Amino acid sequence: MATFQDGCIFCKIVKGESPSESIYEDDDLICIKDINPASDHHYLIIPKNHIANAKELKLEDEPLFDKIVDTVEVVAAQQGLDLGSTRTGFHWPPFNTVNHLHLHVIYPVENMNFLKRQMFRPNSLWFVSTDYVKSRFNVAS
Ligand SMILES: [Zn+2]
Ligand SMILES: [Zn+2]
Repeated sequence: MATFQDGCIFCKIVKGESPSESIYEDDDLICIKDINPASDHHYLIIPKNHIANAKELKLEDEPLFDKIVDTVEVVAAQQGLDLGSTRTGFHWPPFNTVNHLHLHVIYPVENMNFLKRQMFRPNSLWFVSTDYVKSRFNVAS
């Protein structure tokens, strides 16, 4: 059973209580279309368990984190995305939009407008790469 938080929109989506366009799902996570796409393709990979943000990931969450990152390739293969032109990353607190961990997958980068490029700029103060988050587990262990 996943752990949910009352009032969280992504928990409601996971529970099927709020509408979303899901393109992939397994026991641990769900992948939905972003309702406000930053390019032609824009997906959110969301763990079913409520984890507030990438900064809150604990050492025991590392296998789940790896699975979230691996799912990028699953989604890319399914949707025909070229990974070389795909932007991925996490919001970094306090600049979260929704307070439930989610990995953005945006393609192609070339079609993102100026504002979206700033909003999803890798390793800015507000948006970080999967490699950055992964490196934090190594520091913790
Ligand atoms: Zn949640
Ligand atoms: Zn977001």
